[in-house]
Amino acid sequence: MSTETSTNTNTVTLVNISTEKWPPRHRTYFGSLVVRSPEPGEPYAITPIRGCTGVMDLGDKRIMEYRITAREIAEDIAREINSDSGEGSFHGVFVAAGPEPTELELADARRRLEEFQRRLVAAADLEWERTKNPMFITDLERRAARQLGLEKPWLYDPKPLAECPVCAEKIKHGVAVCRSCGAILDREKAAQYGLVAAGRKERQRNQEPQSQAGIETGK
Ligand SMILES: [Zn+2]
Repeated sequence: MSTETSTNTNTVTLVNISTEKWPPRHRTYFGSLVVRSPEPGEPYAITPIRGCTGVMDLGDKRIMEYRITAREIAEDIAREINSDSGEGSFHGVFVAAGPEPTELELADARRRLEEFQRRLVAAADLEWERTKNPMFITDLERRAARQLGLEKPWLYDPKPLAECPVCAEKIKHGVAVCRSCGAILDREKAAQYGLVAAGRKERQRNQEPQSQAGIETGK
């Protein structure tokens, strides 16, 4: 019993330098655990991890208890999060050697995260060159470009198309006239570009000076 207590109080430090929010981690031996993400302005966030006792059901009402150290659990969680996006992926989570991450550990994690983000951006560039289709750019790639502060033509998610209320043709947002059926979708804008006579409101507003002009001409 005393060994269990001492193992349980032994914690290791799981460090996360990414602002990404991770869904809770689930394990039979500790239930659910949320890996903290740094708040804006914070360079990293720490999640303390404790050792656990796992219980294995051997059947016939026999169970076997087994120890899992804090470090094993932390390494397992870090591996799970980091490998989330394929081989060699890294999401900024690591287990510190001591209770606080050292500058060297943080610098190493930042370098690995940036390397991974640059790889994502390069993959997106290639995809864009081939397809020019923003649908093929993943959220992860967009996030990587934003975090690296890069401007990319594929960064902007085009608004989904709307539907013309007259002919149901797919149309872009903000268009004045439906290209398919010619319906006026935005009267004010269409008038602005001379595609249609000014709306009724405009005519009413113009009535007064027009009638005055009529009087002046001595009608
Ligand atoms: Zn239309």
